[in-house]
Amino acid sequence: MKGAQPNELLGQHMPFIPRTEEFTGSSSLFRATAWSEAFVPGIDFRAVREGVSMSEILELIGYTPSGIRDDVMRGPCPIHRSKSSKSRSFAVNLKRKVFHCFTCGVAGNHLDLYAAVSQKRVFEAAIDLCVKLHRQVPWLQLNVERDCPH
Ligand SMILES: [Zn+2]
Repeated sequence: MKGAQPNELLGQHMPFIPRTEEFTGSSSLFRATAWSEAFVPGIDFRAVREGVSMSEILELIGYTPSGIRDDVMRGPCPIHRSKSSKSRSFAVNLKRKVFHCFTCGVAGNHLDLYAAVSQKRVFEAAIDLCVKLHRQVPWLQLNVERDCPH
């Protein structure tokens, strides 16, 4: 299991922040109340990734590997859904919390895997995971008032 590493895909999830007119408004009409109404939370995806193990994700999606050696599991791909349960096209590194499918080419970290299998956006998948695993959602506080020039 040397070969291609899916590292390029890792850690690129920016916090999902919906665009709102309020954030771009430079008008001083937006007072503190307006700013707090415009508050849109983000999630600390790094905290979610660090707080959840790959095994927990595999358990949640009900994954059955066809083989395991050291930290690497091989088995059918839960994303493109390998036809054979004996397939070994999908590889998971439990320690590094990454996966890669040699057939469909999808790769990423364990949060990406959960999002892909549950067909959610990463933002929704992260919340869903925290709820299912009884973890606190690590909301990012956007300190918009400090950035406000007034
Ligand atoms: Zn696949």
